[in-house]
Amino acid sequence: MTHTATTPSLVIIGAGPGGYPAAYLAADYGMEVTLIDKDPNPGGVCLYRGCIPSKALLHVSNILNDANSASEWGVQFDSPKIHLPSIRKQKDKIVSRLTNGLGAMAKQRNVTFMQGTAKFLDESTVRVSKTGDEPVDFTFDYAIISTGSHPSPLPGLDITDPRIMDSTSALELDEIPQSLLVIGGGYIGLELGSVYSALGSDVTVVEMANRLLPEVDPDLVKPLQSKLETTFTSILLETSVEDVSNDGDRLSVVMRSILGETTTDSYDKILVAVGRKPFSADLGLEMTNVKIDQNGFIDTNAQCKTAHNNIYAIGDVAGNPMLAHKATAEARIAIESIQGMTSSFDPAAIPAIVFTDPEIAWAGLTESQAKAKGISVETISFPWIASGRAMTVGHTDGLTKLVVEPSTQRVLGVGVVGYGAGELIGEGVLAIEMGSRVEDIALSIHPHPTLSETISEAAHLFFGHNPHYIQRK
Ligand code: NAD
Repeated sequence: MTHTATTPSLVIIGAGPGGYPAAYLAADYGMEVTLIDKDPNPGGVCLYRGCIPSKALLHVSNILNDANSASEWGVQFDSPKIHLPSIRKQKDKIVSRLTNGLGAMAKQRNVTFMQGTAKFLDESTVRVSKTGDEPVDFTFDYAIISTGSHPSPLPGLDITDPRIMDSTSALELDEIPQSLLVIGGGYIGLELGSVYSALGSDVTVVEMANRLLPEVDPDLVKPLQSKLETTFTSILLETSVEDVSNDGDRLSVVMRSILGETTTDSYDKILVAVGRKPFSADLGLEMTNVKIDQNGFIDTNAQCKTAHNNIYAIGDVAGNPMLAHKATAEARIAIESIQGMTSSFDPAAIPAIVFTDPEIAWAGLTESQAKAKGISVETISFPWIASGRAMTVGHTDGLTKLVVEPSTQRVLGVGVVGYGAGELIGEGVLAIEMGSRVEDIALSIHPHPTLSETISEAAHLFFGHNPHYIQRK
């Protein structure tokens, strides 16, 4: 069957946080839009198997952590009882409310949503296949590839066992294993490791780099690492997994440290969280002149356009950082470019957040990046131990940091570690994008008592005058 649309038509492959905003904006501009995804509704990995379910589960771990620390505040709870089916139900309810809502939004905008797997037949036709149905071919004037990414497997791990989870199966929360080995101390490993730890698992993290979250400034990671050293059973750095084998009820794991020492231990379950790979295979891209790089990312320009004039690519499949909000921002650029506007994707800051306890968030230039690129910067940090608000919410294990261009005193980067850091970083993004100088932040009156004050406190400290903190020389 062939479906030929009246022009201008747009076919979007992948309905995640890149694809669905692109579809809805294009429809608002009056284009005829077909949005294709394997899932029953728009939402993508972010809503079905990523950001949303993981944040729902991290909320559960925060509830448990709050209950456990309540006695310090004179409130005594009984030991929390965990009812796994109810946790799963609540998480799934949030996912289906959001994804059903997006499905309804597609209908309201007259976007045709097709469930199935899409493949390019040539540079103007996409075929959508769904088991049990006849394939449907769509011709298009424009196409956007927003197929996202999938978890990377662990190289050399050649056993398949349901006890070896990736982020998708870990979020299903089938059971709480007594012991869990998390391979990879990045975003997913630490977020999901925190969830399982709060729910009662003994969690060990093995990370091949010499620290957790190797891409994040070490001073921001330090408070998190100190906390995780008390909640996780063990954190093994500069260590990699050599072999995993079936050991009856458990999985036997051989690990090798950078010094060459080999240890063998066994675990009930393993979570592999060693990064994600772009979803660019099996799309029929060889039938087009869309180019992919050696890492599988689709090559695009600042308009999110591929090597083909009418085919765009956005989100994880088009390059790092693999973050939902970067995909959404690119969606706008792609649609505006299709509309003939002169839009470019050129952000000064893409914020990133690790939703652990404490959270870590950063935007713009990091101190580590500045060092690596030989860019001279000044940094200033305000410790949360001096924040009244941090003390009243029992979370003084934080730090707010500004990365400043010395010659202009412009704020190039902001980093925060601490309770709710993810909610604070938006101000950092605005400051960087607006070209703010440190003085602009210092002179902007921040509300008291709030954690947002730590941003202006850092700015005051930059000039050497802070009523709440004296910096040791
Ligand atoms: P990641 O890149 O954050 O972390 C992977 C870690 O695994 C790295 O620290 C790496 O050094 C380590 N590693 C790699 N191979 C290893 C090995 N063989 N043994 C031990 N350690 C090994 O990747 P991730 O945690 O899988 O997350 C993937 C992406 O998903 C992230 O980069 C991010 O873009 C996105 N994500 C974002 C959020 C968020 O925004 N909060 C949450 C989850 C995922």
